[in-house]
Amino acid sequence: MPIYYFQCLTCDETDEDTCMFKNKQYPTCSRCGTVMSDDFKSKVDAPADVPRVSSAMGVHPSQIDSAELEKVHPGAKFNPNGDMLLKNRSEQKQRLKERNWVNRDSY
Ligand SMILES: [Zn+2]
Repeated sequence: MPIYYFQCLTCDETDEDTCMFKNKQYPTCSRCGTVMSDDFKSKVDAPADVPRVSSAMGVHPSQIDSAELEKVHPGAKFNPNGDMLLKNRSEQKQRLKERNWVNRDSY
């Protein structure tokens, strides 16, 4: 689901929310009560450091902790479903490289 960033134009408080686009609502500022607006500024910077889960780079649950997996992706973390857990965009890029995958977003 997409993450939306909001900013209070009155006192500069920021907030974020993860929701479906059709459910998107502007929250009220927790500090001064003003209805917040889109914060396009931090939208550009912030997502790079947001943790992400990649099922595309996931493995079968039986492969988690296998020696071969550790060889291909040293130190990689997986959830019980076998989805790869990534700290941020730079780890995602590194893991793609380890698999010799090309991240189309980087073109
Ligand atoms: Zn405010």
